[in-house]
Amino acid sequence: MSRRTALAQFTRGLRFRLTLSYVLFFTVLLCVVGLFFRHALSSIMDSQVREVLDEEWAAVNGYLRVANHYPLWFYDEEDPEERAIVERLRRVFLLADAQGKALEVSGAYEVIGIDPPQEIRAAVQSRQPVFRVRTSAQGMPYMIRGGVLNDEHHNYYVAVGRPLGDSRRVLERFNLSYFALTPVMILSSCLLGWVLAGRALRPVGDVSRAAQRISGESLSLRIGLRGADDELDELIRAFNLMLERLESSFEQIRRFSIDVSHELRTPITAIRGQLEVALFTARNQEQYREAIVNAMEDIERLSNVVRALLLLSQAESGHLPLTRTPLDLASLVRDIVEEFQIPAEGAHLTLTAELPAGCRTVVDRVQMERLVSNLLSNAVKYTPAGGQVHVRLARCNGEVTLSVSDTGRGVAAEHLPHIFERFYRAPQQGEGPERGAGLGLSFVAWIAKAHGGTVDVTSEPGKGSCFTVRFPAGAPDL
Ligand code: ADP
Repeated sequence: MSRRTALAQFTRGLRFRLTLSYVLFFTVLLCVVGLFFRHALSSIMDSQVREVLDEEWAAVNGYLRVANHYPLWFYDEEDPEERAIVERLRRVFLLADAQGKALEVSGAYEVIGIDPPQEIRAAVQSRQPVFRVRTSAQGMPYMIRGGVLNDEHHNYYVAVGRPLGDSRRVLERFNLSYFALTPVMILSSCLLGWVLAGRALRPVGDVSRAAQRISGESLSLRIGLRGADDELDELIRAFNLMLERLESSFEQIRRFSIDVSHELRTPITAIRGQLEVALFTARNQEQYREAIVNAMEDIERLSNVVRALLLLSQAESGHLPLTRTPLDLASLVRDIVEEFQIPAEGAHLTLTAELPAGCRTVVDRVQMERLVSNLLSNAVKYTPAGGQVHVRLARCNGEVTLSVSDTGRGVAAEHLPHIFERFYRAPQQGEGPERGAGLGLSFVAWIAKAHGGTVDVTSEPGKGSCFTVRFPAGAPDL
């Protein structure tokens, strides 16, 4: 595998994609949280500075009087505390008249720049406190709080300021530590995501390894449930169920191939025997003829089995379409019963039928004839001389019921569940009727199912059997 293919496979892997999504999500979250906290911190600190500036501005209002555009500071110069307060207030200080002309400016205020006259005029007009952030030539940010001071005749603009160095430093420290830590956190999230994704996907790997061990020969293997009762256990359960179905299909195919080869081997061996006899022992034309006739009979039986098998597999794989037409089942069954009267008489059986009118239904005529014939032929075949076969048709609860009962040899309980399987023939004691191919009831079962019906059997060995087929009835006026 080339390096490129290996890389492509790696990046397509679920573990990589899970980790990547986790890391992307985590990174975005980290940035959003960082920015949010930075913003919150900055607004808290700004509002603290504003509060202090409001207090300082109010203090200036207390100490300052302006007379004829001349500022006068009223405080006790002997009181060192008061003097220190006023000195601090005048550190970043501006006094201007209503036109914007500066009357007193502190050195620090000059450094950050005196407010333009139009700004001062606007502030005086609005009479609202103004907050501004200005940066000195050295890059130090200051917050300025301006407001209107008025004596009896004039309005003045007074502004005090404080450097924002401390809060900016706190913000910078926050930025540095948070965003410097971010790559480390992202890296750790990569590692964590990789480990977690690996852990979460480990059972998937186990399942896939177990699945790889399963082949046609080891279909009985099952993947063990983890006991977590989560989605993966659900998947394993579904997988095991699928294996079960596959195993049963494989088993059916295996049994079918064994049965088919067995079924074909018997007549082929018989034909071979007859032809060998003809070849080595026949003396005259009559003996040759007899051997060939016998071989032909076996060949006929063989081709019947093959034809029936083909038809059955076509039917079971859904490739035998049904041509449904509304018809009167009573007349269809009557015709077949009449056909069976001669073989029944030949076997010294009484064949009777009870076929009331009004059993109309929508069925495929050919398949329905096959179903009735198969049931009747079995009844005649497996009922000894002197017995009775009775066919009964009835309509009740939206269903048409066809039952074929006989007083024949019956089927032992242990064989009953299997008689609808292909090639299954219940073993019989002593001399019995001629062996069938074991496909007749398979057809019956398929035809009933294909028409949305069911077939049931009750049987008692030595006393007789009763096969009952139920179909949904068509509307009476069909
Ligand atoms: P077959 O060609 O052997 O009759 P079927 O599929 O029609 O094949 O029947 C399967 C087996 O079911 C038969 O071999 C027989 O043992 C049993 N069976 C079917 N119908 C009857 C019946 N009416 N009475 C007794 N046994 C029956």
